[in-house]
Amino acid sequence: MDLAFSPEDNAFRDEVRTFIAENYPARLRGLQEEGEELSKEDFLAWHQILGKKGWAAPAWPVQYGGTGWTATQRYIFSEESARAETIPPLPFGIAMVGPVIYTFGTPEQKAQHLPGILAGTTWWCQGYSEPGAGSDLASLRTRAERITEDGKDYYIVNGQKTWTTLAQHADWGFFLVRTDATAKQQEGISFLLIDMKTPGITIKPIITLGGEHEVNEVWLDNVKVPVENRVYEENKGWTCAKFLLAHERTGIAGVARSKRGIEKLKEIAKTEQDGQGSSLLANPFFRRKVADLETDLTALEFTELRTLAGEASGKGPGPESSLLKVKGTEIQQRITELVLECAGNYAAPYFREFPEGSNEYPIGPEFAHRAAPTYFNMRKTSIYGGSNEIQRNIIAKMVLGL
Ligand SMILES: Cc1cc2nc3c(=O)[nH]c(=O)nc-3n(C[C@H](O)[C@H](O)[C@H](O)COP(=O)(O)OP(=O)(O)OC[C@H]3O[C@@H](n4cnc5c(N)ncnc54)[C@H](O)[C@@H]3O)c2cc1C
Repeated sequence: MDLAFSPEDNAFRDEVRTFIAENYPARLRGLQEEGEELSKEDFLAWHQILGKKGWAAPAWPVQYGGTGWTATQRYIFSEESARAETIPPLPFGIAMVGPVIYTFGTPEQKAQHLPGILAGTTWWCQGYSEPGAGSDLASLRTRAERITEDGKDYYIVNGQKTWTTLAQHADWGFFLVRTDATAKQQEGISFLLIDMKTPGITIKPIITLGGEHEVNEVWLDNVKVPVENRVYEENKGWTCAKFLLAHERTGIAGVARSKRGIEKLKEIAKTEQDGQGSSLLANPFFRRKVADLETDLTALEFTELRTLAGEASGKGPGPESSLLKVKGTEIQQRITELVLECAGNYAAPYFREFPEGSNEYPIGPEFAHRAAPTYFNMRKTSIYGGSNEIQRNIIAKMVLGL
């Protein structure tokens, strides 16, 4: 991959930058700056604008609605999106179930689901993890039994999923279920698309340490699912599951957004701390931490570019996506740790809203208000998408051949 930007690439960058500047909703920008919780409509607003422009799914094949951009253009697009701090399309449709459907789905499944995923009108959630089946996902116990009723075939699904991100907004979910309890673990699993309005589905919130309603328990009690909602063959769902996880992990690396995160960190660390013109960035110990972080991010960026170039030449993301996931999430966490260090004592008090009778936050600089909740929230990144310990096991086996 040639890393020098051509005049065409620079023109493309200008086009993307202008499009974002002219079309990103000011209302969303305001909500982000205030650190407000986003509604379903807020999450989908930018996705829908990108969908109309034909830019929602740069990595998809053109025949299914992808952009046909080169790897360099995709890289520029993600850089510009991160620079402008846009709310990215949620991964569950575009990055996860979409590729599964266009790769393994029937023509009917493609026609039914791909347009809504592209347009940002259908919200998907991921029903993989269960209590007792996270890292050891293949031990999942949610079962689906096949029945025939009035000449039609259905699965009756019973079980519990957990940590289901933003399921409270979901129209559809993709679920791993056990369709053969007698087969070896991975061989008895199927991949089902379930309409979240089907009777028998109950969603219970889990409130996180940062005070957010981001994850849920999803209970399935005799949920009746038409057999045509199964993707790929019965008992072969593990093939779809693994394919999807490789896509999920590449996306988690978040290089462009971490670059923007480091820029912001440096802006914060430059501000005077002691009333005598001295800043944290002037402190050699702190500066060294920032420099280490930037060096690691640059190395990760090159690994991501290699993966992108490989994908451009037809190689899907393989076990190297585990490398991206581990390093990418460690860097995201380190950025929040250094912001917390900048905030110092001011990170300690946290009010979700202004205290009663006040129209401003009571103490400390503005960046410090969300430093602690963001720090806590980002602990998740080394757990979800397969924990970083599990990724290291994959790297040892598949990349290093140990
Ligand atoms: C914020 C958040 C959002 C999530 N969203 C979703 C979602 O939308 N859909 C979904 O299906 N799931 C989701 N998950 C679940 C996530 O995929 C699991 O939490 C993750 O796979 C770990 O599983 P577990 O929580 O059961 O931990 P466990 O598997 O019990 O692991 C506990 C600890 O032991 C370590 N460990 C386990 N096995 C090994 C081993 N063999 N070698 C070394 N170390 C090991 C783990 O790394 C971890 O540190 C989400 C999780 C979080 C935190």
